[in-house]
Amino acid sequence: MTMNWDEVVGQQGAVDIVRAMLATDRIPHALLFSGPSGIGKALTAKLVAAGILCSAGGDKPCGCCQSCLLFGRGAHPDFIQVVPDGATIKIDQIRMLKSFAALTPSVGEARVCLIEDAEVMTVQAANSILKLLEEPPNGLVFILTAGTGKPLLPTILSRCRKVAFCLLPANALEQALVRKGYNAEASAVIAHLSGGRMGKAIALLAPDGLEFRDMALALLRDIQQQDMTAVWSQSSKLSSLAAKDLISVLEFFLYLLRDLLVVAGRYGEQLLYNIDLAQELADLVADWPEGRSMAAVTAVKNTMRAIDGNANSRLALEDLLIKLKDWQEKGVQYVNSSRYPL
Ligand SMILES: [Zn+2]
Repeated sequence: MTMNWDEVVGQQGAVDIVRAMLATDRIPHALLFSGPSGIGKALTAKLVAAGILCSAGGDKPCGCCQSCLLFGRGAHPDFIQVVPDGATIKIDQIRMLKSFAALTPSVGEARVCLIEDAEVMTVQAANSILKLLEEPPNGLVFILTAGTGKPLLPTILSRCRKVAFCLLPANALEQALVRKGYNAEASAVIAHLSGGRMGKAIALLAPDGLEFRDMALALLRDIQQQDMTAVWSQSSKLSSLAAKDLISVLEFFLYLLRDLLVVAGRYGEQLLYNIDLAQELADLVADWPEGRSMAAVTAVKNTMRAIDGNANSRLALEDLLIKLKDWQEKGVQYVNSSRYPL
């Protein structure tokens, strides 16, 4: 992996805080990097971990000491990384982490444990790690990352020093993508579509990165068809995806609905996520009046939550599509619109 802080884009505030900690050797025993997904939390966490383990004197991580070389190869014995196993981080994973905590350092004097997406720890897993978080053995540092989906347990939160990460403005993200060598035109589209998330932008810039958005767009169009044939064929295609991918498609569906609201409200093209679809959105908007789009946003979010909670993907999706189709035919009255849905 890279040992270069310049790779972290647009998080100057957070980077300054953690680099100052490294420079002064004042690292709290538990750090929490919080903010939306895909904005550089995990990358920063690995740089901090490498920095804590680095044996050089100056700017850390140096990238060339024995510790940094091991870290760069993903082979540092004093570093452990826990990521969700499926939808959650389970108690067995925390048990493994506890065995790691009981060892002594192999290379230097420090050890680091990174827990990514800590908010998805099961309650048992979270409870079982509390004591270790509060009183870790000498030299052991915890770095937790957490998204904005679920709140972290207050007992975990209170034991960590929090560092906040924020979404990038579209123009800063666009410039960063161009600097990374991506095509300028694609960077402009993707910077808007990724909602300020570098991780998402890079995924979208992969050769088939926009495939999920195209599926969402096809779904939006098919709901307008007279009969249900196209909708069912989309539904069977989509429910064969992994749950995580289906949630991505639905997320793009939300972005499209949100853009339809922008078009319907005449807020201006510059606010669109899908700036390259302005014409198509303008064509579709007559079929998606504001009330219907708002109701659809709520329904799609509920479906995403159900699938995330291990509901049967196919049934959840069909339920959603029947609802959307029904609203198209009979209309829908959206209530409780006290705040903007996205
Ligand atoms: Zn080093």
